Amino acid sequence: MSYVTATHLTKRFGENTVFERVNFTIEQGEFVTLLGPSGCGKSTLLRSLAGLNPVDGGQIWVNGEDITHQIPQERGIGMVFQSYALFPNMTVEGNIAFGLKMQKRAPKDIQREVAKIIALVDLKGREKHYPHELSGGQRQRVALARALVVKPRILLLDEPLSALDAKIRKHLRQQIRDIQTELNLTTIFVTHDQEEAMIMSDRIFLMNKGEIVQAGTPEEIYTHPANEFVASFMGHYNLVAANKAKQLFNIETPWKVAIRPESIYVKEHGRHYDKHISAPQTGTIINHQLLGNVIRYQVDVGECELTVDLLNRSSERLLARGSQLELLFNLNEIQPVRA
Ligand code: ADP
Ligand code: MG
Repeated sequence: MSYVTATHLTKRFGENTVFERVNFTIEQGEFVTLLGPSGCGKSTLLRSLAGLNPVDGGQIWVNGEDITHQIPQERGIGMVFQSYALFPNMTVEGNIAFGLKMQKRAPKDIQREVAKIIALVDLKGREKHYPHELSGGQRQRVALARALVVKPRILLLDEPLSALDAKIRKHLRQQIRDIQTELNLTTIFVTHDQEEAMIMSDRIFLMNKGEIVQAGTPEEIYTHPANEFVASFMGHYNLVAANKAKQLFNIETPWKVAIRPESIYVKEHGRHYDKHISAPQTGTIINHQLLGNVIRYQVDVGECELTVDLLNRSSERLLARGSQLELLFNLNEIQPVRA
């Protein structure tokens, strides 16, 4: 049996069924991300695991124990929220020590454990500060420390980075991953940011409307989207209707086909191409966006609008609107996707 096993989990708020008969397993030490658009049920699922939202059906097992009906304090699960939720009238030390005091641990133990965790989350020197004296990133590290100090068997993080600046967010996500790896802590992380999910996770559970649509490694999900929703949520897949797929790629399928912007090339004169590269098709540039190292073109090819990413090697490559180019498609990278 896996470390965490959820079977047929169901949750309703009145008439609104948030999720129904959801199943998943998570191994010990795994970092799993629940990824999906706002409102798809990520927080509700996480809160159900923590015992903050009782479920209406199904079971949750942790390490062979049925915790479905346990109160939150019995579950050994730590949780960090986007909003920090620190006690404003307590210092960093006080906030972190709170859980251990509730457990009535000896003062000497508390002091030792708090000092250890403060070092782990890199807050040395801030022990006597109050939350209002800290930056957002520091507050979130206090919240993380407070969850970790009681040695949870599972750590749940609900969009903990969403309120932070881009630079701090990147730093803190690496720090969270490093700490999680060091402690070999089974972790479930929630985000709506696919880049964050791709970078941090061992596995991603991609959710839509209360369902786990696809579970897999970031690479599996990015390269083999299970359906149209996954293809449109991950990366910037071109989705081409079946009749256009026949016309452009000579592929016969009842479904749409997906091709990534980086699997479309511009034909270079005098270069030999392998068999898996299509015959050239003429396209007309509709628009472009400079993304830094990549230029993203919108190109009309046979009345089909495609996104094409080209490496920004020099400014000469920037092609003006209306200019024509010969496009090649990597046929190995074109895949039919279910609706
Ligand atoms: P996400 O975290 O993916 O954005 P949520 O889990 O917060 O989504 O919400 C999923 C659905 O559950 C939404 O339709 C939301 O309105 C509903 N919901 C969440 N919490 C409550 C609640 N306490 N009472 C009623 N409905 C709720
Ligand atoms: Mg949420």
